[in-house]
Amino acid sequence: MEKQMANDETLLHEYLPVLGMEQFTAASTAMLLGEDSPALAAGRAFGVQTLSGTGSLRVGAELLNKQLNYTNFYYSVPTWENHHLVFVNSGFTSPRTYRYWDAKARAIDFEGLIEDLRNAPENSVILLHACAHNPTGCDPTHEQWEKIADVMEERKLFPFFDSAYQGFASGDLDQDAWAVRYFVQRGFELICAQSYAKNFGLYNERVGNLAVVVSDPSVVQTLRSQLTWIVRGMYSNPPAHGARVVTNVLANKQLFDEWKDHIKAMSSRVTAMREALRAELVKLGTPGNWDHIVKQIGLFSYTGLTQRQAEYLIQEYHIYLLKSGRINVCGLNPSNVQYMARAMHDAVTK
Ligand code: PMP
Repeated sequence: MEKQMANDETLLHEYLPVLGMEQFTAASTAMLLGEDSPALAAGRAFGVQTLSGTGSLRVGAELLNKQLNYTNFYYSVPTWENHHLVFVNSGFTSPRTYRYWDAKARAIDFEGLIEDLRNAPENSVILLHACAHNPTGCDPTHEQWEKIADVMEERKLFPFFDSAYQGFASGDLDQDAWAVRYFVQRGFELICAQSYAKNFGLYNERVGNLAVVVSDPSVVQTLRSQLTWIVRGMYSNPPAHGARVVTNVLANKQLFDEWKDHIKAMSSRVTAMREALRAELVKLGTPGNWDHIVKQIGLFSYTGLTQRQAEYLIQEYHIYLLKSGRINVCGLNPSNVQYMARAMHDAVTK
């Protein structure tokens, strides 16, 4: 695709519009909400091209805080470590947290999560990971999402989805957008930060989309003006190259299908490595239950290793993981998975 683009003499280095390439934002918003989304058909959903997921989060947070006067904001414990800074810098000076991870059960602390949402003041913004929760690798089930939506509706909470891994959780773009689409179908207004860093491997091109869904199409124009003002004062307009790559792929059936196959291959490999690691641990008789490794989804796994055990792996085995015990499953392959399991076994039993 990039070679083809290099020979295209019609491509210029002119500035893009402040809100980005329309073809890109339309294709991206449709990928999130579904081609046949009634919200899109009703003209009450649109997108703004942003500087990858982070830029999307920042523009969305500024819209909510500075233009729409939302003041309370919640993120999960744990979450991607940059969420705090991005939202504080956008004006949400005292972010609050909701419980997410039950370290003992190595699963979502669903009761804690619901209780914290129930206690959130009306009009709080709730940051939700659309899929492949970073760092735990644990996503709510459909039933749990339904419950979350019930509480958020009852408490009048505003959903801000972060979709940094669409396609990388289940291998299927539609399945990974299930939660966002469900909230839209339930009638929520919401925004969603989409990143193409991982699923397109376009990390340094900074390609993202901020998808906005409202109830009343007549407010779209005003929102676009407010967003224009935010972007104008922050970086004027977005870069073109990565967005052109994504648009060319999403708009071409053959390339789109090929990309979907790549995503599937990638997520199947991650799933196979999760299974291999669990199988090795079981074979070694490593104390504890390791089912959470295969129940988790996406690139990351909260292994359940303690900080001391994580440090032991780094020092003794040169296996580099976070002190929280989080590993990136992409780092595993058939030649090193046994080494990993033996190291974990040693750390747990020593
Ligand atoms: N959200 C989450 C949950 C992430 O894990 C990441 C990247 N690690 C991002 C957003 C943003 O990434 P980027 O700005 O590179 O798209």
